[in-house]
Amino acid sequence: MRDQGQHERQDDVTTMTGKSEAPLPPGSCIGILGGGQLGRMLALAAARLGFRTAVYAEDGENPAFDVAKAARAGAYDDPDGLAWLAEVADVVTYEFENVPVATASILARSRPVLPGVKALEVAQDRLVEKRFIAEAGLPVATHWRVDNADDLKAAIREADAPCLLKTRRLGYDGKGQVPFAPGDDPQAAFAAVGQAPSVLEARVAFDGELSAIVVRAADGAMAAYDVPENVHEGGILRRSTVPSRFSEQTRLKAVAMAQKLAVELDYIGVLAVEFFVTRDPANPLIVNEIAPRVHNSGHWTMDACVCDQFENHIRAIAGWPLGDTTRIADATMINLIGDDISAWPALADEPGAVLHHYGKAEVRAGRKLGHLNRIKPLS
Ligand code: AMP
Repeated sequence: MRDQGQHERQDDVTTMTGKSEAPLPPGSCIGILGGGQLGRMLALAAARLGFRTAVYAEDGENPAFDVAKAARAGAYDDPDGLAWLAEVADVVTYEFENVPVATASILARSRPVLPGVKALEVAQDRLVEKRFIAEAGLPVATHWRVDNADDLKAAIREADAPCLLKTRRLGYDGKGQVPFAPGDDPQAAFAAVGQAPSVLEARVAFDGELSAIVVRAADGAMAAYDVPENVHEGGILRRSTVPSRFSEQTRLKAVAMAQKLAVELDYIGVLAVEFFVTRDPANPLIVNEIAPRVHNSGHWTMDACVCDQFENHIRAIAGWPLGDTTRIADATMINLIGDDISAWPALADEPGAVLHHYGKAEVRAGRKLGHLNRIKPLS
């Protein structure tokens, strides 16, 4: 059966949570689950506001460890490791959505974990996520639940068009995805995704992709950044550009939709929502996915906004007033993937550009190692 949602409910972006705890003072410690570049940039932003950070992540190359006051490597289900984080941190956040829900729940018994456990539950499973979005009244791509090769066979018969088979869990940057079309072998496609519970998703003939990066404070106040156009290559974000070529109406609609999802999740922090933009003038936007965290398509805010997405996430989870999201420059953010990073000497010398190097030692194809923000200040 096709998994359909409802599209009837109205946008409501003004609901307040009514929570008003005292802001966390500088000198307090922000705990971060996950040690990648997002954790690193969150820690740098936290330091600017006078906070200390403690990062807990699995063993491996953790660039956030280099810039944190305290860091510890361990498994996400190691009680000692979690006890350490709860002991040192005043509030805990996460830099990726695949932090186990159990980990966040254990920590939440002793410390606030923000943006919260619900956002993790929703974002970790593509099927749960699509249902949640549809129940909020927002459009998602037509999709079918696939638990075995027979489900896949039935779904493609109904779809009768090119699709993508995606694992429900642990897919990112195009991983855990295979194209699937009528006539293809369902056994082979299901094997290619490791026979994992999946969704078959109709391929959207989009005109472009954009994302809304919004932030919601502890008292329910909300702000949003300008909406970038995103270009992906091989499932990985290549670049984000502001201003985007999409109409103001489309951009405002994307922000309103993302803020609606933030309210539904009772969310605190930065939330990114990725959209496909279709040629349907009445309903151009289809939600692709939710990221309950700072997002790669918001990296341009570091050099083109009064207050960037990382600082605003820290402000929100610390109970501070939100920072000014006003854009003060046109910008293109280019991801430096794999060997792109070897051009750092020339990129560092480029006028009007800001190089962000994540300090990762291991250069691998498909690995995000830095980004370049090309900036043109508004006159
Ligand atoms: P995802 O990991 O699901 O966000 O997919 C990564 C990228 O693959 C997206 O940003 C799109 O460029 C492409 N993609 C994913 N799903 C679809 C779809 N249903 N139709 C067309 N392109 C897609």
